[in-house]
Amino acid sequence: MNLDLSISELAKKYRSGVVTPEDVLNECLENIEKNNPKLNIFITLRDRQELLAEARNVKFETLLSGIPYVLKDAYVTKDIRTTSASNVLNNYIPDYDATVVKKLRDAGAILIGKTNMDAWGHGGSSENTDFGPVKNPWDVSRVAGGSSGGAAVAVSARMAMFAIGEDTGGSIRNPAGWCGISGLKVTYGRVSRYGAIAYASSLDSVGPMAKNVEDLSLILELIAGQDKLDATSSPTEVPVYSKNLNLDLKNIKIGIPLEPDQAIKDALVKLKELGAEIMEVSLPMLKYAVPTYYLLAPSETSSNLGRYDGIRFGQDRSNFTQESMRRIIIGTYALSAGYYDAYYKKAQQARTKIIEDYNTAFEKCDVIVMPVAPTVATKLGELISDPVKNMLADLYMVTTNIAGIPSLAIPCGFEEGVPVGFQIQGPMFSEELLFKIGHQYQQVTDWHKAKPNI
Ligand code: GLN
Repeated sequence: MNLDLSISELAKKYRSGVVTPEDVLNECLENIEKNNPKLNIFITLRDRQELLAEARNVKFETLLSGIPYVLKDAYVTKDIRTTSASNVLNNYIPDYDATVVKKLRDAGAILIGKTNMDAWGHGGSSENTDFGPVKNPWDVSRVAGGSSGGAAVAVSARMAMFAIGEDTGGSIRNPAGWCGISGLKVTYGRVSRYGAIAYASSLDSVGPMAKNVEDLSLILELIAGQDKLDATSSPTEVPVYSKNLNLDLKNIKIGIPLEPDQAIKDALVKLKELGAEIMEVSLPMLKYAVPTYYLLAPSETSSNLGRYDGIRFGQDRSNFTQESMRRIIIGTYALSAGYYDAYYKKAQQARTKIIEDYNTAFEKCDVIVMPVAPTVATKLGELISDPVKNMLADLYMVTTNIAGIPSLAIPCGFEEGVPVGFQIQGPMFSEELLFKIGHQYQQVTDWHKAKPNI
């Protein structure tokens, strides 16, 4: 099937004329028709005829030309409904495109539709949505992970070649890990957030999700870069990541802050065989990661969601889900006079300590390897019914957002019949190094090639 190919392999086939974008689009639409009713991935699917017309008119100018993708419904799209999976925005049709959407359109990629997620990014299981939970394609009694759950499943279930997710505290890496695909949380400011519906603005990041690391590198080099519409986007030059994936791991030092489980132990053996040196490092602040994040993120979201007053756009505030209301209340409380010093300020101080932890660790090692999540994909209902468990599931992911550093999540095995993944975290703007390590690992393993039998 063409959808099993990598982006560069498919691009080659387009150019030799043996496959057309229309063929691939038809394969995506067939899979969507067959499996979307079971998995509940799409909030909005674009019109079939419109899509096919777009596919027929592709000019092959970049490697993403004619490559079909899906977009987490957290990005505004001109003339296409944008909901953030919330009834608050169930009738919102934006009149402009997010920068990431514009860049992908200019590159010739074809947007198939907008995917289901935890409303406003609030969640780690894609159950906190007004459009029904997303199911895991490896086991439909389990969740897909979140909040970019629909995006991950669309790639895993071969309904698109890649996806654009959003990661504030793990939302790209968690569903990537639980669905067996690869995902990248970028350095803060690496990709423009213009047109991204804000969850927590100092933590939000826009990033790619795909079957393998090489694909991620191709996507990132096209969507990264400074944008005059986002003052926090970085002027740091964007490397041609995909041309630079070869690396001898001989001089690479990998730090391990936690006792690894079996799948990660096996991954470390592979990385060692490739030449890397494995060493222990410590991140003493890790135990404060969840409380720090769950003060900062709700504080920022309580402010960001203030704009949805039911007057300028969307429906009234009674449409927020219970989970989102909880966050608005916690955030408002943490920012209020009398409590600000005790909660928000303390969390900001802890944030500095977490950054210092990473700086100290990166003096010893080049990258850090950690699990994506403490468990495999949970059963439907397990996280949404237990708010504390829901927060604790984010333990290994939130520190990178707090520190603004990048982290690559890739699959490394199976437990209980469903995928597990690990993260490679690095210093700011080390995406190139993370890609190299991840790509070398995928050259000697096949976990990223496994696909669900739905
Ligand atoms: N699970 C985390 C939360 O609920 C992360 C969400 C995200 O990255 N958007 O806040």
